[in-house]
Amino acid sequence: MKDSTPGQFPGGPVVEARPPAPGDLELVRAFVNTRNVERRTDAVDTPAGLTAWLRDRGLLDPKIDATDEDVARALAVREVLRAFCLRNNGVDCECDARVLNAAAERSGLLLDFAGGDSSLKPRQPCVDGAIGVLLAAVHRAMLDRSWGKLKACADPACLWAYYDRSKNGCSRWCNAGLCGNRDKVKRFRERQAATAAKAIDNPTAP
Ligand SMILES: [Zn+2]
Repeated sequence: MKDSTPGQFPGGPVVEARPPAPGDLELVRAFVNTRNVERRTDAVDTPAGLTAWLRDRGLLDPKIDATDEDVARALAVREVLRAFCLRNNGVDCECDARVLNAAAERSGLLLDFAGGDSSLKPRQPCVDGAIGVLLAAVHRAMLDRSWGKLKACADPACLWAYYDRSKNGCSRWCNAGLCGNRDKVKRFRERQAATAAKAIDNPTAP
């Protein structure tokens, strides 16, 4: 495991200064952030971890435990969701919708009109059903256009999911002071290296 500066990153790669995403979209954001890319940790990469995470959120029947196959499918869905979030941040990346389509089909999402309103509900409270609840939240967010504000940090070493509440909707980093600053330093060094390379190519240039 990669070390992190003690006290600087409690619970994530960055100080969680941002407010949560609206409604159930926060559940999706939290699910994407079960993997901490910077710290190289994953809260749901074992059957016990996935079971606990889903149960803590009331998404899984207490009598059901996640299997290795459930974990593999959940991780695949999560990483495609992260890719979608990255695309929401203007990063050109592959987003394999077939993974989400297959997960939606397995969850057996049904339209439910109980209470005079409509919602998508999974057929069973199993792991596939729980993933279906997350996908239904994504679907709702796509309809009300809040989805485009759920982004993954543009720093490839971070990729933390955050909800962009900035006025112009152009926030690129989960934390401008950390990931944004890291990008500035990287660009500065690249410019310095390019200038040095030019000086070597043209030693007589003024
Ligand atoms: Zn970040």
